[in-house]
Amino acid sequence: MSTKIFISGRFYDKEDAKISVFDHGLLYGDGVFEGIRSYGGKVFRLPEHLDRLWYSAKAILLEIPMTKDDMGKAIYEALAVNKITDGYIRVVVTRGAGTLGLDPNRCSNPQVIIIADRIQLYPQELYEKGLEIVTVSVLRNHPAALSPRIKSLNYLNNILAKIEGLKAGCIEALMLNHKGEVAECTGDNIFLVRGGRIITPPLDAGILEGITRDAVIDIARASGREVQEIAITKHDVYVADECFLTGTAAEVVPVVKVDSRPIGDGAPGPITCELMKRFHEATRQ
Ligand code: PMP
Repeated sequence: MSTKIFISGRFYDKEDAKISVFDHGLLYGDGVFEGIRSYGGKVFRLPEHLDRLWYSAKAILLEIPMTKDDMGKAIYEALAVNKITDGYIRVVVTRGAGTLGLDPNRCSNPQVIIIADRIQLYPQELYEKGLEIVTVSVLRNHPAALSPRIKSLNYLNNILAKIEGLKAGCIEALMLNHKGEVAECTGDNIFLVRGGRIITPPLDAGILEGITRDAVIDIARASGREVQEIAITKHDVYVADECFLTGTAAEVVPVVKVDSRPIGDGAPGPITCELMKRFHEATRQ
């Protein structure tokens, strides 16, 4: 059976799922998106993902041509028609087809695309042994230029960082902000553990407000752990007891080496492992 893709109210076979080459989503990266997981047929933190999508759209003055309710229903429908219970859902809203100029007012019909797919998980080994990352020279977008809080279709900032990380042999890379502080990774948020305390960069470090980040903060606090959102430097990373990343696809993944330096004793730490376990329970209960 061919994968069925939702485009603006209808499902199409993957081969026939097409949008205009004049769509500004393609021409200029003018649009927004979400990456969402479903576990056992239930969409994880759906209201939070929809809120973030709507905020991203609002920030670029893009009106999403359906209600959150209908979007939620369409997401569940995309899972159902493709018979997916544990999967990854990509929601894309483009500016729509326009002319060969930047003016978004000359675009009509924003397009809503929903792709429900099976999830490509990171190799299990990474969760057991931990990940090695490097700090790259590409800075995270200056929030006054393009806020990293907008999950826009323009992901070149992250892609350039990813390329630099991959060339250094790492599948994820650490990005600093314009102030030289730790911001986030190319597709994941970062956390450190020091002296039993969990810390993560605040939103004003210029990061995406990760849904998994928020879930992990909730889980950690519910289990009595202190979590602080404070500015972090590379020095803090190097001397941390533990480090881990969070993201929709990665979930919670330990980091054991940064810039060739071992973090802690070079193995996934106890608090990281505890949070991985709790996150797993929270999503697979
Ligand atoms: N930062 C960036 C830049 C991202 O693209 C993502 C999502 N892939 C994240 C962090 C993690 O966010 P979430 O937990 O919502 O997937």
